[in-house]
Amino acid sequence: MNDQAECPTEPDVYQRLGLTTVINASAPLTVLGGSLMPPEVLTAMVQAAGAYVDMIELQDRVGQRLAELTQNEAAYVTCGAAAGIVLSVLGCRTGADPRRVALLPYDESLPDEVVMHAAHRIPYDRAVELAGARIMTAGTVLQTFEWELEAALGPRTAAILYVAGDHLRRGVLSLDQTVRIAHDRGIPVIVDAAAQLPPPSNLWHYTTEQGADLAVFSGGKDLRGPQASGLIVGRATAIAACSVNGAPHQRLARAMKVGKEEVFGLLAAVELFLAQDHNALRKQAEHTVSEWCSRLTEIAGVSARREFPGEAARPIPRLRVDVDPNVAGVTISDIVDRLWHGRPRIAVLVERDGLYLSPENLASCEQTVVIDRLLHAIGG
Ligand SMILES: *Cc1c(COP(=O)(O)O)cnc(C)c1O
Repeated sequence: MNDQAECPTEPDVYQRLGLTTVINASAPLTVLGGSLMPPEVLTAMVQAAGAYVDMIELQDRVGQRLAELTQNEAAYVTCGAAAGIVLSVLGCRTGADPRRVALLPYDESLPDEVVMHAAHRIPYDRAVELAGARIMTAGTVLQTFEWELEAALGPRTAAILYVAGDHLRRGVLSLDQTVRIAHDRGIPVIVDAAAQLPPPSNLWHYTTEQGADLAVFSGGKDLRGPQASGLIVGRATAIAACSVNGAPHQRLARAMKVGKEEVFGLLAAVELFLAQDHNALRKQAEHTVSEWCSRLTEIAGVSARREFPGEAARPIPRLRVDVDPNVAGVTISDIVDRLWHGRPRIAVLVERDGLYLSPENLASCEQTVVIDRLLHAIGG
């Protein structure tokens, strides 16, 4: 949550180009700019911008610090979680040997298949193909049996990509089962945990606790680091393999260069995230959701309730609003349009035919603006 009490004023850079800024009541979505960096993160970026440095030494040192903070053997900063998936797959294909990196993209001696549970197929998994691998699915969208995963693994398998999050868990093998089956065959497991924060313990849960080789997080979502940053954590050998594929080296993943400013910004964001009182944040969010809820009682055709967990199954409460258009005289999409096209512009989320308001990205004065405007939009 944004702890500013004041409503932020529209920054000059946006005004000068005639751009309309957004009050984000939906989620830390990339399409809306991710999240807003706290001052500590911005300060770290400004300081990083003030000097030259050996980028390999910088990545190593920051990686060590991030590894300590996140209770992992090693860590590496990327320019996003999608880039983290590309680097992880490249690393699993090549290992830490620069001669094997130089064989990319065409050499047939490198393993080129990544196995996923069918129920884990998400739009972001294209990152696997960017790393020159093919996605092989195991099981169906409803379920995967152990034998199906086993049958999908073979000599060309570079890794299993496992997408974390309770919303995707139905019917798939647990991460424990997946890791056991993979490791029995010497195959590494990469976890896409891009949006699985909080809780902070997820920074070590998938890897150190559950045995996955690598886990990938977005820096620009809940961590509130730079929008173009991401984090890979995991086993030292696997991280070393990611790093020989990445910038400043000049091979395929040079296209996903991360700057010294993002590296320091992400480090500051992780430090801050781990130092935060997540229970207190959760309580604040509960309070906002219940206030919102109480403002929406007794409107004909409108019902509102707290929903938990929130977007991407994260442990953050949000408000779900349902509308009966025949009684309320307005549809969900009318309301969404009115919020987006009014001033200030407000973004909300629509999922499973309901409208969702989430307090996590709102300054406290914005929380009032959002509910006032919602009531107004319902009333026409
Ligand atoms: C957001 C997201 C990504 C991409 O993360 P970026 O940091 O924006 O590159 C990948 N996978 C999942 C599950 C995500 O939610």
